[in-house]
Amino acid sequence: MARHVHITGANRGIGLAIAQRFLAAGDAVSTIYIGDAPPEPIDGIVGDVRDSEAVNAAMDAFEAKHGPIDVLVANAGITKDGLLMRMTDEDFDAVIGVNLQGAFRCVRRASTSMMKKKSGRIILIGSVVGLMGNPGQVNYSSSKAALVGMARSITREIGSRGITANVIAPGFINTAMTAVLTEDVQKQYRDSIPARRFGEADEVAGAAFFLASDDAAYISGAVIPVDGGLGLGH
Ligand code: NDP
Repeated sequence: MARHVHITGANRGIGLAIAQRFLAAGDAVSTIYIGDAPPEPIDGIVGDVRDSEAVNAAMDAFEAKHGPIDVLVANAGITKDGLLMRMTDEDFDAVIGVNLQGAFRCVRRASTSMMKKKSGRIILIGSVVGLMGNPGQVNYSSSKAALVGMARSITREIGSRGITANVIAPGFINTAMTAVLTEDVQKQYRDSIPARRFGEADEVAGAAFFLASDDAAYISGAVIPVDGGLGLGH
């Protein structure tokens, strides 16, 4: 049966690749995004994941069309890199706002539908740097590390209701987010990855599709790395 999969930021990058996996399986995909509209047949509404009212209203509208959300992928994320001593309050708060608070607002709304159905899959897109750390990313790595605590608390709180919550921790993936890195920095990163290459968005999508499948019903509170071995299990 077709599922209703809600993916934040499914208009491009990793979110779009995840959407395409579920669409290919015949599922309905909805998304909240900010910039360019997603391609058909993804059902999109412009909204900011930091805005609870916008999130709740969009999910109400999507559920009226596609039924209760079966799978939530909290994917929307930003970076605002800078060294600790020069990092502004604005840059710290903006990254925590989208990556952590935004994920919370979406999870809170989607979980109300999942609780009623007594089933659901929550997938949070973290990062390898959430557990490894990275210079220049105190804001970003803090926001991604917090998603691990979020998934584990959700697991303990509502795991008995047929709901799982997991984190996917991608390494360096070829998207707009990594395209902004200089060739030197990209080479430095590539040399540190055991697979010696960046990943593709579709490789992250494969992990998300698996976590939403029946085969993953007994996996919860886990961190699944998709990083070419960079984090070695972290
Ligand atoms: P992109 O920059 O390509 O896409 C980010 C997405 O997030 C866009 O769809 C964007 O929408 C959406 N978004 C940003 N802010 C908001 C907001 N306030 N409200 C709603 N949507 C928002 O990034 P990636 O595809 O590379 O990254 C996707 C996720 O994967 C992120 O959480 C990122 O941290 C994570 N990740 C990425 C890695 C990589 O190497 N690329 C590595 C590890 C983790 P819009 O286009 O409308 O602005």
